[in-house]
Amino acid sequence: MDYAEFLARRVGGKVQKIAIDAGMTCPNRDGTLGWGGCTYCDNRAFNPPYCNPSMSVAQQLEQGKHFFAGKYRQMRFLAYFQAYTSTHADFARLRALYDEALAVDGVVGLVIATRPDCVNSSLLDYLQEVNRTRLVIVELGVETVHDRTLRMVNRCHDWATSLAAIELTAQHGITVGAHLILGLPGESDEDMCATVRLIAQLPVTLVKFHQLQVFKGTVLARQVASGEVAVRDWTAEQYAAVCARLASCLRHDMVVERWVAQAPPGMVVTPRWGLKPAEFQQLLNALAIK
Ligand code: SF4
Repeated sequence: MDYAEFLARRVGGKVQKIAIDAGMTCPNRDGTLGWGGCTYCDNRAFNPPYCNPSMSVAQQLEQGKHFFAGKYRQMRFLAYFQAYTSTHADFARLRALYDEALAVDGVVGLVIATRPDCVNSSLLDYLQEVNRTRLVIVELGVETVHDRTLRMVNRCHDWATSLAAIELTAQHGITVGAHLILGLPGESDEDMCATVRLIAQLPVTLVKFHQLQVFKGTVLARQVASGEVAVRDWTAEQYAAVCARLASCLRHDMVVERWVAQAPPGMVVTPRWGLKPAEFQQLLNALAIK
């Protein structure tokens, strides 16, 4: 089953995610845990043009609805709290933001992207209530299960924290997504397989992969330029071959949301494949990955 089909089954019809920037930052950037952020981070790489934290959540959703107008008749929407760490605020503020989204006409659920160290029981109790009548997905930025890599890229959390967040979220009956990065510094194919095998043993339903991208102006770009850190110099075909191997490590009931990310080309130092997700999917299909 692909991701669109998974969502359609869960909400009973076609649904489109609308990304929202609710103006939150990240504990790894605002001094709560650290200042520099993860070495590879540049949120501009994945924030769509209609996301604007100066607008309210409802306004961003209305703008997103307008952006996608006409794609399907009778389209419904998921409010996708995507930017930075979308649970990094006090509970009252979070609840107000999520409730505002759920009150927008046509919004049938929430997708919330966050760090594993930014979920707690109060938040999950509330989301569990929402999940009784709407779809709620929590996407956790796990990235890898290897603590040495997490330290190297300055994630400021470890695997044990990810494991606890996955289990606590699932215990609340909420669909868990895991975000994983492939090609992190120092990781072999076997390391990536180990990550996916471990994730597959846990109550994770959705997996979102992307290739490590080195963005201009990031700490990682400086580390790579100076030779302090090496990243993979792989072709899209080589990356697809790794994805094929990883796919065989997933449970059959797991759904892959995506295998590859696409950032504005002007931001990317490497890899510069220039492939749209659909074109990458063709590579995967040639390797018999559905
Ligand atoms: S946790 Fe996410 S938003 Fe925060 S610095 Fe890392 S990649 Fe950026």
